[in-house]
Amino acid sequence: MPQQKLDWNLQNTYTSLPEKFFRKIEPTPVADPRLVLWNRPLANGLDLVDLNNSHSSSNSQQFDTVIHQKISSEQSQELASIFSGNKIPEGARPIAQSYAGHQFGHFTMLGDGRAILLGEQVTSNESRFDIQLKGAGLTPFSRGGDGRATLYSMLREYLISEAMFYLNIPTTRSLAVVATGEKVYREEIQEGAVLTRVAASHIRVGTFEFAYHFLTPEESKELASYTINRHYPEANHSSNPMLTFFQTVMERQLDLILHWMRVGFIHGVMNTDNMSIAGETIDYGPCAFMNSYDPKTVFSSIDRQGRYAFGSQPAIAQWNLACFANAILPLLHTNNDEAIELARSVLDSYADSFDQKYWQMMGLKIGIPNLSEKDRSLVENLRLWMEKNQADYTNTFLALESKDYPENSLYLDIEFLNWKKEWKSRLNELNISWEDVLKILKANNPSVIPRNHKVEEALIAASRDNDLTPLKRFLEILQKPYERENISTSYHLPQEGGDQNYKTFCGT
Ligand code: AMP
Ligand code: MG
Repeated sequence: MPQQKLDWNLQNTYTSLPEKFFRKIEPTPVADPRLVLWNRPLANGLDLVDLNNSHSSSNSQQFDTVIHQKISSEQSQELASIFSGNKIPEGARPIAQSYAGHQFGHFTMLGDGRAILLGEQVTSNESRFDIQLKGAGLTPFSRGGDGRATLYSMLREYLISEAMFYLNIPTTRSLAVVATGEKVYREEIQEGAVLTRVAASHIRVGTFEFAYHFLTPEESKELASYTINRHYPEANHSSNPMLTFFQTVMERQLDLILHWMRVGFIHGVMNTDNMSIAGETIDYGPCAFMNSYDPKTVFSSIDRQGRYAFGSQPAIAQWNLACFANAILPLLHTNNDEAIELARSVLDSYADSFDQKYWQMMGLKIGIPNLSEKDRSLVENLRLWMEKNQADYTNTFLALESKDYPENSLYLDIEFLNWKKEWKSRLNELNISWEDVLKILKANNPSVIPRNHKVEEALIAASRDNDLTPLKRFLEILQKPYERENISTSYHLPQEGGDQNYKTFCGT
């Protein structure tokens, strides 16, 4: 049977930066790699494989367009050895990247302690994607860690990052999960795995903090030029490229957090090293989705103060942006006071800008474009009702589309029905047709999110019982989060009794 090789087109532009920005390091080979998940549509998007390649009919039968399809065992072995780090693809120059960061407010040196960047895959339309192996072994930045990752947490990252992608939210993606055949020692002994993470880049606020604190201003400048050229080349045409760069990073971050607030996503560990300069959601450790609406919701076991609670995310993003500003101050202006003034002028616009966009976004969640200040009370009252009644964030917005509810439904509550009446009469006054309202609701409110109990169910089956069926089924459902057919399955309901006791752990 002919073997379809992966079409690597790797470049390594990051290694053109001064050497302190990275360390050359190869993945540590693993004992017995076994391909667990393979994201074929993504591989196709990266031009690694060609789904339309029909020069051999046996090839096209081997690969269908469905995610995680069956592939030959030979092919699977080949993919397992590449995506475990046992076999280095042509053109790769593996490195661990240097970075620092503020973790829970405290500055510290970090770096890739268990992730190794193979290189940048450049597609035929000149898009560039970092290909990184997470859990690939020890690096000079591993500190006390073992450089490895558990199968459970790598599957978790795969599941949630792909869910985010299909929710139309900027995110890193997951190309493969390979079990290593080795044990990793956490609270208990677990199976090890390597995740292949695909990102616009892995340049973080923490990368700039690293440069600011430990390198020369010239080296910081090189990082900034590299990043601008890679992600925001338009900024080069402005009178102060660094200021435009800062402004653009802020806007991207703001838009990202708005998405999180729209779907109830709680990142859980918004440290500055986990904030991507390209504006993607990155690092799926203790993240989780909120079910019943409460801005104070926190799931992460290590976030005891609620620093990264659902409702705190907009303010934390601003805090992180202030760290970013601080790290690039010398590049904004040669005069420190002037630099501070410039940074402040941008940062000060964050709160108003967020507020403005937040209400617009929430307006769309109730089917009203260009929500006026007067109509904010509609959203506010709905939020208050949800909080008071511990109503499900996702399903409450879905309930706006329904006419009738089952007996005992929370949505038969008189206060909710009154709210709905007021909302409908406002829609009439605004002259928005029901058809248009439905269209807006369906575009902005998901019908399905990765509910915590379903996530756990699928991950436990896959990582403990070696049964991938629930996980694959879940992944398929999460590919169509805005669909409205068949929306009363067990995937669409929160866990009975709520998830007060649900705890997440840093992805180790
Ligand atoms: P994270 O919580 O994933 O953002 O990771 C924070 C820091 O801890 C990063 O520098 C990671 O590379 C490092 N780290 C996390 N887990 C491990 C591990 N098992 N071995 C070595 N370093 C790790
Ligand atoms: Mg991290």
